[in-house]
Formats: sequence, structure tokens, C-alpha cells
Amino acid sequence: MVGREVTPELAFRLGACFVKKRGERIVVGRDSRSSGEMLESALVSGIISSGGVARRVGIAPLPAVSLAVRDYGDAGVMVTASHNPPEYNGFKLFGDGGGEAGKAEEERVERGIGAAKLASWDALGRDERLHSVVRDHIDLALSLVDVGLIKGKNPRVLVDCGNGAASVEMPFALREAGCRVVAVNAEPSGLFSRGLEPCAENLCDASAMVRAVGADLGIAHDGDADRAVALDENGRLLGLDAQLALVCGEVLSGGKRKGTVVSTVEAGLLVRDAVESAGGKLAVARVGSSFVAREMARLSAVFGGEPCGEYIFRGGVPVPDGILSGLKLVELFCRRGKLSGQVSRLKPVFMRRAKYPVKDKAGAMKRIAPGIEKEFSGKVFAEDGIRVDFSGGWVLVRASGTEPIIRITAEAASEKKLEEVFSRAEKVVKKFA
Ligand code: MG
Repeated sequence: MVGREVTPELAFRLGACFVKKRGERIVVGRDSRSSGEMLESALVSGIISSGGVARRVGIAPLPAVSLAVRDYGDAGVMVTASHNPPEYNGFKLFGDGGGEAGKAEEERVERGIGAAKLASWDALGRDERLHSVVRDHIDLALSLVDVGLIKGKNPRVLVDCGNGAASVEMPFALREAGCRVVAVNAEPSGLFSRGLEPCAENLCDASAMVRAVGADLGIAHDGDADRAVALDENGRLLGLDAQLALVCGEVLSGGKRKGTVVSTVEAGLLVRDAVESAGGKLAVARVGSSFVAREMARLSAVFGGEPCGEYIFRGGVPVPDGILSGLKLVELFCRRGKLSGQVSRLKPVFMRRAKYPVKDKAGAMKRIAPGIEKEFSGKVFAEDGIRVDFSGGWVLVRASGTEPIIRITAEAASEKKLEEVFSRAEKVVKKFA
């Protein structure tokens, strides 16, 4: 929380120890939180004090900050707490090329934080401003969607920026793409009119407004705009797996590109079916956008998406891009018609999730994983919990990152099959937990 763990002192020290060598250019961006300006100023002061060049972007979506790091920096920091409540804030680190900083880099910074050395008076760095970052990112995003198609349809789009970083970019990007735009919560004031997670309970107003203005679809973002979710013309969310499945289909067949798509252990059958029926190959990664990005690079994948609404596109930036995702959802509407109709044509989903409290989740998982592997035969992925994919279904057993619980997720082609798969997995978990 700001004022407790996250303070200007911490931001200063982080800035000071983040600079590796004199003259290094560190791009600094932020979302719209009220504590953002204070933390940004302290961070910049730290960067200058150790001889670095701070290149300020101001309020910008996370993918725009990533692009600025790629084009104008050696590394970067964004002051953001993504979708978390307004009293929180934090720092997201970027490496060379604009990707999320790896674990090694984060550890280097953490070790250095108590012992930052200040440069002498004649070796201080400086403060610079970058003005074209949002413009650059709009251009990049528009180059990756079919603007001709969107202009031809001229759809009415309601966008809910959640008073976050999307406010400074998404209404402009949509208008340039050829949409009739109704923008709400689009003042990046630091005062939030809704919760920043783009989920159903936070999007009641957006849903009503989609209907009230007769929009063809709605787009909503989280605080740092690395995520986008779509609402259909009735103001209903598509569902996270359904949305991801539709975007996978659009990327693979709309763009007429075959290839590999990366998702995580949490992606369901809709995603697998969408990728395979469009002629693509689905690869599974650990949960977390940095793992998805790394796997995409390794496999030269065309797209990487997590069910939470974080999508990475080849040709774009190596972090989730909520602005481009939102434009892709508009493109999807323009190419294939009403989103409600597209969702209704997907197969029904039979999925079940349950959690089990455990004392030692790491120890329990060590015993459970071989048990699950023995119980189910299929394709095994064991780098993040254990997932087994078999014909017509899959099962995942995974420890929570934050709570002392283990979760089972299972999906199958029918209710009956699901019951069977789930109870077999549950038996293994209960035996070894
Ligand atoms: Mg986010």
C-alpha cells in the first residue's frame, strides 16, 4: 500500500540502483493513480542521482511504455498497480527491447536497493521528456489491424477506460480506426469511478451504457491497459475463454497466418479447439505474461494469450497490449458480426473448479503430481502445477500463488464425463494432500 510498503524513499532507491552505468537511458511511465506523480518524481530523482538519463513518458498504457523502452531506452520502469485498488501502487521493470525484466534483473535490483551509491555532483544524470510515445503506439497498433475493414463498417463502440492509462490513448485509437466512439470513465484523474479489474461486477454501468447508446460492442480496460475485455451488443461479457478463443481464431484465420499460439495451463477446450480448427498449434506456458512472452519468442509464435484478457501479438510489443487487443475485438465484430452470435456458435463448456486447503502446498504438490500423471494418460505439462490434456478434456492441479490452497480445474465434453474426470482428480488430491 502507498505510504506503507510503497514510499517515495523506496522509489528513489529503486531509481538509483536500477541504473547500471552512467548515461543509461531509463524510460519512466505511470498509470493514473493519485500516488503516481509522487512516486514518479522520486524515481526520476533516484535515476538522475546515480548518473542515469530519465526519459519520462507520463501517463501511458503499459504497451506504450514498453514500446518507448524498445525505441528510446535501455531499460524502463512503470509506476503501476495494474487492476488493484487505488491505494496500491508498485513498479514494473522492463529490460532492453521492452520486455518484462527477468527474475535475475529483479533480484539484482532488490539486492541493490539498500546500497544505492550516488554519483558525484559532476556525474549526475538528467531528466528528459518523450512526447510521441502514445502516438507511436497508436500507429503500431493500427498497423496490425484491418483499418479498411473497420472503416467500412464504422461500428459504434463504447469504451470504458476505467479512468486508467487507457484514457489517454484508446478513444483516439478507436476513432482513428474508423469507429464511432462513446468513451466513458476516460479522464485519467486518479479518481476511479469503478473497480479497476474489468470483471462483470465492475462493468455494470458499462453494460447498461452499451445498451443505452445502441453500441455494437463495448471494450473495457484495467488500470494499466494491458488488458481488454469485450461486451457484446447486449452489454454481456463474452467469457474469458470464449473471448480468447475468438481472438485466436481471428489472429490465425483473419490474418491468414498459420502457426503456433501460446496460452497457459489455465486455458480451456474452447481455446484449444479454436486454435486447432484454424490450422494452428497450441503451446502451453506457465501462468504469467513474462512466461508467455518467453515461450512465444522460443517458438516464433504468432500470438500469446492468457484467459484473464492479456494478449501479446507478433509484430507488436513483447508485453500484453490492451489497446491492440481492444482493436482486434472490434475487427472481430467487423469481420464476423455480432459478438453474441459468435459466442453462441461456440461449443458448450463443462468446467469445474474447486479448492482444497493444505498446510504445505509445495510438499503436497510433490506427492500429487506423480499421482495425477499416473491416473490420467495424455499430454503432460508439469512446469506450473500439473496439467494433463487428453481427448475431449483436460485436468489441472495447481497450488495457489498467494493462498495455502490447491486447486483442481477440470473440463470435459459432457457433464457426465466431467464428473468422472473431476472425481478421479479429487481422489488423488485428497489421498496425497
Ligand atoms: Mg494490468
